[in-house]
Amino acid sequence: MANPSFAARSYRDDAVVLRTHKLGEADRIIILLTKHHGQVRAVAKGVRRTSSRFGARLEPFMVADLQLVSGRTLDVVTQAVAKGAYGTAIASDYTCYTAAAAMVETAEKLSDADADSGTAQYNLLVGALASLSRSAHPPELILDSYLLRALATGGWAPSFTDCARCGTPGPHNAFSAPLGGMVCSDCRPPGSPAPAPETVGLLGALLTGDWTTADASDGVHRREAAGLVASYLQWHLERSLKSLKHVERS
Ligand SMILES: [Zn+2]
Repeated sequence: MANPSFAARSYRDDAVVLRTHKLGEADRIIILLTKHHGQVRAVAKGVRRTSSRFGARLEPFMVADLQLVSGRTLDVVTQAVAKGAYGTAIASDYTCYTAAAAMVETAEKLSDADADSGTAQYNLLVGALASLSRSAHPPELILDSYLLRALATGGWAPSFTDCARCGTPGPHNAFSAPLGGMVCSDCRPPGSPAPAPETVGLLGALLTGDWTTADASDGVHRREAAGLVASYLQWHLERSLKSLKHVERS
């Protein structure tokens, strides 16, 4: 007998698969970032059977149009239509894969902490995964740009020009993750790193999406920028990102 409330509990949304884990013999729990319902944890039944029609659409980094039924603790995925099959291209390149893994891990933490920015976080993540899958830019730059913009969307916008603490117009020489970016000589905490001006310029370009500047940057500045992005991210998430340690830096 049909559950009379089944239709009422049914909803449709676009989603990115952030992470999956096994449930029982044939099922999988899927952690999703949806476009309109924030972060959703759902069960996909029977997807680990080879006969499953939608198993391949519910792998990490895939974007799909989903039909779901809300449940008490977990929702249930009843249909999945692929929208962006980024998983295959991303998984074929180790650097791309580790960059994508760090992105979805960050997206999971940010969308868990702040449900209000869900649609903006969804759009940012889908854009970054699409960019990775077509090798639009070096993967480590796509990752760092994504991380800076995701943090900004989550309410932790860094400043790379004016002093992050007092607002004195820049450029400034010192970087402080706790204070929110570049800081002036008066606000600079002892021991703050002093990145190269080119690195600060690269960070600003990654935050604003100025790819002409970012793509023209040198490896030494990319590595320095990556270290500052990682320290900024870790400070503001208050938890270290396991995936970041595995990203290969060229
Ligand atoms: Zn200052």
